[in-house]
Amino acid sequence: MDLTARLREIVGVAQVVTETDVVAPYAQDWSRRWAGKPLAVVRPGTTAEVADVIRACAEAEVPLVPQGGNTGLVGGGVPQDGEVVLSLRRLNAIGAVDQLGRTVVAGAGATLAEVQRAARSGGLDVGIDFAARDSATIGGIASTNAGGGRVLRHGITRSQVQGLEVVLADGSIVCRMSGLAKDNTGYDLVQLMVGSEGTLGVITAVQLKLVPPSGPAVTALVAVKTVDDALAVLSAVRRRFAELDAAEYFHDDGLQLVLRHRSVASPFDRHHPLYLLVEVTGAGADTVDDLAELLGELDPVRDAVLAVTAADQRALWELREAHSEAIGAVGVPVKLDVALPLNRLGYFEQELPDVVRAVSRHAVTILFGHLAEGNVHVNLLAATEDDVHGSVTDAVLRLVAAHGGSISAEHGIGLAKRRWLPLTRDPADVAAMRAIKQAFDPAGLLSPGRILA
Ligand SMILES: Cc1cc2nc3c(=O)[nH]c(=O)nc-3n(C[C@H](O)[C@H](O)[C@H](O)COP(=O)(O)OP(=O)(O)OC[C@H]3O[C@@H](n4cnc5c(N)ncnc54)[C@H](O)[C@@H]3O)c2cc1C
Repeated sequence: MDLTARLREIVGVAQVVTETDVVAPYAQDWSRRWAGKPLAVVRPGTTAEVADVIRACAEAEVPLVPQGGNTGLVGGGVPQDGEVVLSLRRLNAIGAVDQLGRTVVAGAGATLAEVQRAARSGGLDVGIDFAARDSATIGGIASTNAGGGRVLRHGITRSQVQGLEVVLADGSIVCRMSGLAKDNTGYDLVQLMVGSEGTLGVITAVQLKLVPPSGPAVTALVAVKTVDDALAVLSAVRRRFAELDAAEYFHDDGLQLVLRHRSVASPFDRHHPLYLLVEVTGAGADTVDDLAELLGELDPVRDAVLAVTAADQRALWELREAHSEAIGAVGVPVKLDVALPLNRLGYFEQELPDVVRAVSRHAVTILFGHLAEGNVHVNLLAATEDDVHGSVTDAVLRLVAAHGGSISAEHGIGLAKRRWLPLTRDPADVAAMRAIKQAFDPAGLLSPGRILA
């Protein structure tokens, strides 16, 4: 029996898709940079079906790539030609909120927004948030160890994952969801799976830690001149307010794209070079005045707007969160997610335009990101042709490495950056990663060629 027929036996005829137009949304990524022709898209509805699908692919020696919401930005979740796409979206059940243990178990295919709603209806919240919340799945988020706008307060996804259910490359199922806060029984397989980008196992359910709701918040958009000014303001705000939830930044060129794309007006009456978005939570009645007073005292602050109502806060957040969408509406950018030590961020931003211009004369550089972690999203429009052989990516990532940064802050390595892994991981480190991959997936069935070339 051929593989497609066997897959239909396992999940039902309707859940194995091969027609080009139905396959299309699974075959290309959100940024339109990565695409392939899969053998089929298979959509199991239970963990047992996932295990059977993996066994069938292993027997047929056909590799597969797990996929959640397909919002990943490094080509890790889109198929290479001939691979099977294993879509986890139908595994979207969400259990009851455990009030005592402050956890919830969600199927890998539940979207972040769905899990947030479930947590909030139980009086708690998820300590993870970012713009792709309506499509990104909790399985994809765990497998990429996603970051986002709440890392400053709650840490990266890894610190929010309490347990996992995972199907390994031989079809065996590992379930570690005791819910115990302390459980040092052997190797930490849960944390090994987090951030492994589908190369070590297929996540079928995630047990997430939940956080208390943040309470009333004050959001401020602060206009400054340079990234070092933004860092000085952030440092002062952090000293004054213990409960800072977010610190995001963007430049004026990005803001202008967003304003045009969304047809909205700037909250400022003139242009400023750079903007810092901060959100203080657990706010008491005096927080607005305190924050306004502090910002008024700080030299680097050129202007600021404060928001206290949910609608006004959302409007400020949109200016930051709509960046990827607004850039994508202009063209397909070279997208590089990197992190710099905070004391090197200003130098990096100063040096970057010349470094890019040397390899891509017409490139338009747009930078934004999560300031507190030195996490910059480098978006280069009109540069994809010059990057066909990776020369633009190479130039930017070498600059990152020269400043002691990371070539992947939160999006992962996928296909996009595997060539550059040795830039910031030494040979012994890469060899250890290869040994782990070999131990979990000796036949190279799961997402071959992602992370490790
Ligand atoms: C507008 C926008 C904003 C974004 N903002 C952020 C941000 O602030 N921070 C951030 O970190 N990322 C961000 N991203 C990137 C992306 O949303 C995250 O990487 C997210 O975690 C991907 O989830 P997904 O379900 O879409 O995964 P997919 O794109 O489907 O897959 C991503 C990777 O995970 C693997 N995978 C997916 N599901 C599973 C599973 N169940 N088991 C094993 N492997 C699996 C895939 O094989 C692939 O390697 C953004 C993307 C967009 C489009």
